[in-house]
Amino acid sequence: MNVLLSHLHWDHIQGLPFFAPLLHEETKVHVVAPKQDDCDLKEAMRRAITPPIFPVELNALAATITYQPVTNETLKIDGFDITSRAVPHVGLTLGFRVQWQDKVVTYIPDHQQPLNGAVEFTDGALELMRDADLLIHDAQYLPEEFPRRSNWGHCTTEFAVQGARRSNVKHLALFHHDPGRTDDSLDRIHDALDAETGKSMRLSTAREGLTLEI
Ligand SMILES: [Zn+2]
Ligand SMILES: [Zn+2]
Repeated sequence: MNVLLSHLHWDHIQGLPFFAPLLHEETKVHVVAPKQDDCDLKEAMRRAITPPIFPVELNALAATITYQPVTNETLKIDGFDITSRAVPHVGLTLGFRVQWQDKVVTYIPDHQQPLNGAVEFTDGALELMRDADLLIHDAQYLPEEFPRRSNWGHCTTEFAVQGARRSNVKHLALFHHDPGRTDDSLDRIHDALDAETGKSMRLSTAREGLTLEI
């Protein structure tokens, strides 16, 4: 199986050592992740998953894990065409465009909006989002929250919606919610944005375990 990691921040790798198939010897996991400046990917993951932070070393898990460092690339993995592009965040961070036949899913989980709050996108981000059937995108802040945390590496719900609109995205899944959100506040955010986007685009609020059909 293949895992696409946008970057190695904690909130994006914490689940990996708890992934049950890694306990089985026959499991082979291929991790595609951003090339690191100072060490290889295996070493970076080894440093993150080790006692006393985790009970065992990563290599104590039975599965075979291989790593593929990438930056701006086009890959073919198991029949999927995968495009990776660097997107603004904190440190090298990738977004991915995954295409199978004529269906496209784009994943941009952490996306730094311009510090002045402008709704402007890099060429790489636009390339990833263009005509996607499903865009899973950072939506950490409401516009009124952004000025206080403008350099924390994220963007507003409005930025996500505008990026999706300009890119002719069919379905936007808001993702990477601020940790302070409650379920009710996410419902309110969804309903307000859904009323605004109308029938032009489907809108979802991503949550753990959510399955979407394309
Ligand atoms: Zn991050
Ligand atoms: Zn993150």
